[in-house]
Amino acid sequence: MECIFCKIASGEFGTEFLFADANVVAFRDLTPQAPTHILIIPRNHHEDVDHLAVAEPATLAQLFQVATALAAQEGLTGHRTVFNTGESAGQSVFHAHLHLLGGRSFAWPPG
Ligand code: AMP
Repeated sequence: MECIFCKIASGEFGTEFLFADANVVAFRDLTPQAPTHILIIPRNHHEDVDHLAVAEPATLAQLFQVATALAAQEGLTGHRTVFNTGESAGQSVFHAHLHLLGGRSFAWPPG
């Protein structure tokens, strides 16, 4: 298994999960871009959200449900959820993941 997020989801690195069930796990980003920066991922490997949406639409919806719950758990008054899709959009890990960011103000448009 080469995919780093598949390894994390399998528990290989002993990563602390903020949420975990049969389909989804959530853990803190290694290089946080905000005071709260959590990644919420499907356990199954899909290279990006476009593929996840076709293969497991219910899991895609669940990623956002988990984001809502974690935002409340973190005490966020607002939050940003982001999927980067493709290298040109900044995707660097090709296992679909939803970024949950909060705890500071965010600019728009994004860089
Ligand atoms: P993206 O650039 O949208 O593909 O996001 C990938 C994210 O994964 C980045 O924010 C990285 O900091 C994060 N990341 C990479 N490796 C790890 C890891 N081992 N544990 C936690 N986060 C990671």
